[in-house]
Amino acid sequence: RQRTFAMIKPDSYTNTGKIIDAIYQNGFVISKLKMGRFSNESAGQFYGEHRGKSFYNGLIDFMTSDVVTGIELVAENAVERWRQLIGPTKTSVAKVQNPNTIRAIFGTDDTKNAVHGSDSGPSWKRETDSFFSPNVKH
Ligand code: ATP
Repeated sequence: RQRTFAMIKPDSYTNTGKIIDAIYQNGFVISKLKMGRFSNESAGQFYGEHRGKSFYNGLIDFMTSDVVTGIELVAENAVERWRQLIGPTKTSVAKVQNPNTIRAIFGTDDTKNAVHGSDSGPSWKRETDSFFSPNVKH
């Protein structure tokens, strides 16, 4: 079985219960869970690959605006299956292409897209180490 790193973003704080329900309904097991708040520094570290992009400042402002919930998931093929369950990055695309996905149901716009999911095994490890470190405070 494989692990992945999921996160409930600040816009979906009030949907946390429903999203955790969807996680179990879809056969994932939660192996770690932490609520925390990104500082500018820890958010910059987490999203370092996007530095310099047009949406970067808006992304950091959004991700530091309120509490997030980081979740380590275990399942067969967890990375790919979680990406399928959350849907396309842009909420507007998700609503048209995959209306049953978590982003289609709970997302607001291209940045406020409800949840995160690692895109590969190596990024899962980097992200989980980064989020479950003391740099992201409870
Ligand atoms: P995540 O990494 O959060 O699972 P992702 O891998 O689908 O999402 P990335 O391309 O890594 O998407 O972008 C990280 C986050 O940056 C997105 O989830 C979204 O919040 C924001 N973002 C990405 N592309 C755009 C865009 N074109 N406009 C605005 N915000 C964007």
